[in-house]
Amino acid sequence: MSVLLTGIGVARGIAIGKAHVLFHDVPEVTEYTLREDLVEPEVLRFSIALEKARVHLRSIRDHLPITTPADVTAFIDIHLLMLEDSSLSKKPVELIRAQRCNAEWALKQQRNSLVKIFESMDDPYLRTRKDDVDQVVNLVQRLLTGQSTPWEGGPDRLRGCIVVAEELSPADAVLFYHEGVVAVVSERGGPTSHTAILARSLDLPAVVGLRRARQFIREGETVVLDGRRGVVLVAPDQRSERHYQQRAEEERSRAADLFRLRDFPARTQDGRRIRLMANVELPEDIDELDEAGAEGVGLYRTEFLYMNRVEPPDEEEQYAIYRGLVHVMEGNPVTIRIFDLGADKPFAGTALGQITPNPALGLRGVRLCLRFPNLLLPQLRAILRASAFGPVRLAIPMVTRSSEVIQVIRLIEQGRHELRQKGIAFDEDLPIGGIVEVPAAALTVSSLARHLDFLSLGTNDLIQYTLAIDRIDDQVNYLYDPLHPAVLRLIYITLRSGARARIPVSMCGEMAGDSRYTRLLVGLGLQELSMHPSSLPEVKQVINGSEYGRIMKLARRVVYARDSEEVVTLMEQINAGL
Ligand code: PEP
Ligand code: MG
Repeated sequence: MSVLLTGIGVARGIAIGKAHVLFHDVPEVTEYTLREDLVEPEVLRFSIALEKARVHLRSIRDHLPITTPADVTAFIDIHLLMLEDSSLSKKPVELIRAQRCNAEWALKQQRNSLVKIFESMDDPYLRTRKDDVDQVVNLVQRLLTGQSTPWEGGPDRLRGCIVVAEELSPADAVLFYHEGVVAVVSERGGPTSHTAILARSLDLPAVVGLRRARQFIREGETVVLDGRRGVVLVAPDQRSERHYQQRAEEERSRAADLFRLRDFPARTQDGRRIRLMANVELPEDIDELDEAGAEGVGLYRTEFLYMNRVEPPDEEEQYAIYRGLVHVMEGNPVTIRIFDLGADKPFAGTALGQITPNPALGLRGVRLCLRFPNLLLPQLRAILRASAFGPVRLAIPMVTRSSEVIQVIRLIEQGRHELRQKGIAFDEDLPIGGIVEVPAAALTVSSLARHLDFLSLGTNDLIQYTLAIDRIDDQVNYLYDPLHPAVLRLIYITLRSGARARIPVSMCGEMAGDSRYTRLLVGLGLQELSMHPSSLPEVKQVINGSEYGRIMKLARRVVYARDSEEVVTLMEQINAGL
């Protein structure tokens, strides 16, 4: 019997495939005591399983395409290192010998003690490393009990599958993508979680926040996923499957039609020119920029270069990537945001030894940059050096007050000084901007503007902080509302204050790439929108079919609507004819 499940569609596209259901929990294992003469053979059985696990991981690493980001390879290396560590390679052997317990039991005991140690750690990043322990232990347990591993049968085993998991990290998403997975479903997560953003970036249809998905979907079952509508159909009948195949075909040809707009500028019918830029998460996104007709990079989320690795990318590695991007953009601006690590984007190199009770309100964005100037300086120098090759802009995340901007500018000055001393070229006038993503920044634009050259509205966080909803918490996702009057007023205040201070304001949050809001945003005065490249043609099509004079008047009325009902009515008027 077919079952229809609904979650939140975060990366569009229709996919049909067999489900691969992931359970990260430690599997149930049988526990028994060994006869004396069976102890050494058991040690051997354990050692063989460990070696098989190493071979598996090495084979995944060796099969990763050349384009795989360094952070993903590093993530596998961490698992390999864990397998070498005596806590997983020697300690279980000691337990087998001392207690005469079977290998699975010994490994389970050792896993429990390791997890306890990780859980008691103050540092939030290290606490999350317990998931790595579980992943590595599960792999060995599966090999001991003869169950298949996700990669058994070679790297192609997951090709064409739809992965169903409790939660996916951004690194998992990349890894599955490279394994040939065609879509992902997760029980947790929200529309602007970083995994969702990454799924869009990889063009991997995804539905998140689908609670208890793993109870309803069984391993190997056929699943149809509609990432635009957030719908998952389990075990479809032949008719439904054919219907979705046809829709997938239609979507593909529609996308091809839209891409024909690539060489035309975005301009309303009455001549208002809008600049459409691209958001970049991974170096491989670069290929898509030209295809989508992006007129620059409005946001490069550089923190993805730091994730899932122990050593940060050094100045040279970053410089090569940034310079490559500047080169590809051929004279169009490239906005590089200094790393926005922290919260759901942890980095091992910033272990703090402190409990962070509420990471979204804690040490992240510019706060973390300023706490670790030695981590920031190589990035600043790399950005400065890349600016010698074309128009680069530097953006600061999570700004709440001028003093943070002033401190970053001082560090930039230090970077400039060091480069000057070495005779290395850079753009002396590199524009410095701030991401407006906290209400405090939106309400104090005039004072921030005194130190900055541009502003960009980061609506993902602006909505999170204005409406007090955690963007990755599926329990409160239903409250995530870009059209909430409070959000709209903050956007409008930022635009007006920016205009008064004569400082350009763009938008780079996910709202900018959602064509339902395009007319509203253009009507409010935005002239630069940055989004995932795949959203760009559709947004352009909406702009080219709009009349600025008409939508401008309606947009202002939306901002001052009395309540959400009036917002909905006005939005229908503004989007009439779409
Ligand atoms: C935002 O918050 O809107 C933004 C662009 O930054 P990120 O999504 O990376 O937090
Ligand atoms: Mg943000």
